[in-house]
Amino acid sequence: MKKDLECLHTELKEKARQFIKICKTIGIEVLIYNTCRTLLEQEALFLQGRADIETVNRARQKAGLPPISPKENVIVTYTKLSPHCFGLAFDFVPVKDGKPVWNDLVLWEKCGSVAEKLDLVWGGRWKNFKDYPHVELKDWKKFAKVV
Ligand SMILES: [Zn+2]
Repeated sequence: MKKDLECLHTELKEKARQFIKICKTIGIEVLIYNTCRTLLEQEALFLQGRADIETVNRARQKAGLPPISPKENVIVTYTKLSPHCFGLAFDFVPVKDGKPVWNDLVLWEKCGSVAEKLDLVWGGRWKNFKDYPHVELKDWKKFAKVV
């Protein structure tokens, strides 16, 4: 799993840079911790929280990911076909005093609004599966070479 912006689709790369920049101007440092994923990595993530820990870790090993603990075996994605597999999404977390802040809804909300101003889709708005770190290109399937 990558975290650099270089692998992102050209449509998203510049917006990701803008996102970091604008968040900074409103006083929020953000860390982008995941950009592109392979299909194998996405499959392994999809098993998380849906299969037993042995199955999950076998899939992770196949995808070249480190094993997780039983406690970490919780749902982290809603789909097997993610825009992350096409460089059309990134996951971020607000950072305070050098530490990621996972539980501050106000911070998420502010960053989410920045993403939306850039005409991106923020996962924090989703009804069924709130994915606060997730930002994707609007109509990403149009840009993905979906097989
Ligand atoms: Zn995501």
